[in-house]
Amino acid sequence: MIRKTKASSHRNKFWITGAVLVTQNSQRDVLLADIVVDEHGVIIDLPKPRKSSPPRGFKKISAKGLHVLPGFVQTHVHLCQTLFRNTADDLELLDWLRKKIWVYEARHNKFTLRTSALLGIQELLRSGTTCILDMGTVRYTEEIFKAAVETGIRANIGKCLMDHPQNNPPELCESTEAALKEAHALFTKWNGTHGDRIRASYAPRFAISCTETLLQSVAKSARERGAIIHTHASENRTECDLVMRMSGGRSNIEYLSATGICCERAVIAHGVWLSPEEMRILSEKKASITHCPSSNLKLASGVAPVPELLEGGVNVALGADGAPCNNTLDMFHEMRLAATLHKPRRGPTTLPAPEILDLATRNGAKALHWFDQIGSIEIGKKADFVALDLNDIATLPTHPTSLKAVASAIVYAGTASNVAWTMVDGQMCYRRSLSDQSTSARLLKDLQKARNAILRPVSPL
Ligand SMILES: [Zn+2]
Repeated sequence: MIRKTKASSHRNKFWITGAVLVTQNSQRDVLLADIVVDEHGVIIDLPKPRKSSPPRGFKKISAKGLHVLPGFVQTHVHLCQTLFRNTADDLELLDWLRKKIWVYEARHNKFTLRTSALLGIQELLRSGTTCILDMGTVRYTEEIFKAAVETGIRANIGKCLMDHPQNNPPELCESTEAALKEAHALFTKWNGTHGDRIRASYAPRFAISCTETLLQSVAKSARERGAIIHTHASENRTECDLVMRMSGGRSNIEYLSATGICCERAVIAHGVWLSPEEMRILSEKKASITHCPSSNLKLASGVAPVPELLEGGVNVALGADGAPCNNTLDMFHEMRLAATLHKPRRGPTTLPAPEILDLATRNGAKALHWFDQIGSIEIGKKADFVALDLNDIATLPTHPTSLKAVASAIVYAGTASNVAWTMVDGQMCYRRSLSDQSTSARLLKDLQKARNAILRPVSPL
């Protein structure tokens, strides 16, 4: 069930009771406490559980038996690609882009893009993700902003920038001026709107798809406006070789650093092929890396040096990437893979479950410079929550208030089916119920119609 959001002034004050709170605060407290939220969607108290009814004016939400966490934050997704799920398997990155994804992205119209975004957001909300950084696409990205507003998810969205005349298909290539003009207009119109639930970013696709002039302009504009820069880098070895050739022998991160892109507001997806020097630059510049383990495995890209990045002080968050390279948007898959993938090389104590929960919540919020509002359950922060029912034969924690036991249940055994509800900005956005089916039935009809408009046979661009 996806609900349309109401104006903040009409929201209820409410009192969540009966839950175990996995706060993700600086002490990582797991508490038996209630949550009191005001009419602005802000947490105003975390009192001891109240046996009686809440005070007048507060709506009671019973969360008895549930574990309530800060909602998951995914710092790299492509909502425009949800329609292409299951259509681009068994390819490596550049073939995957050239033979399938860019062809399909070029075919989007407003209806297909809106449908793709709504489908993706429904999947994200029902698997516990409450906040995303989305890369948009070249045309009609405004439809993604509208879908985010309508569904209630917290989102930072950027129009995908592709201006390199030789390295992009003509159908997706814009002039530097046109690309930047639309990105500026979207930023001006959307950034900080809807109670600051919607933000805008600059999203140069990757070094190969952009001219140096565009990268430098993006770095300057983002610095002046305090905007996030969202890009991909060092996902694939052929990509790294191409960047080296076009940048006069520099490595990807050195090049992005020279253009000003690699900075403390940069969120860089992948970072699979990084030299020690590049990891040092990422740390020095305070850039964030989004680890996308499913995508990296499926596109045969490699395994990112996440333990080394974390040891070097780099902020690492998680993302599902797009539906056709994963093929789900479910954060539980990313958490389990991130927790298991690095153990064969670095040993069994690498990235234990509580640390993975940090990547999925606190680190994502930090990457997006949204940690003052989300990423943990604390007084003064926004009511962005996922409530999990772990009382299932497949997940029951050995102790309901031990962080280690609860994190183990969530990261290693949890699935989207444990999600009871998700709330963003004090609004219930998804609740597991029979009405899921009617929303899905409506969207499924549009899915078929939108797919028919896009998934014709492909001749590579
Ligand atoms: Zn991506």
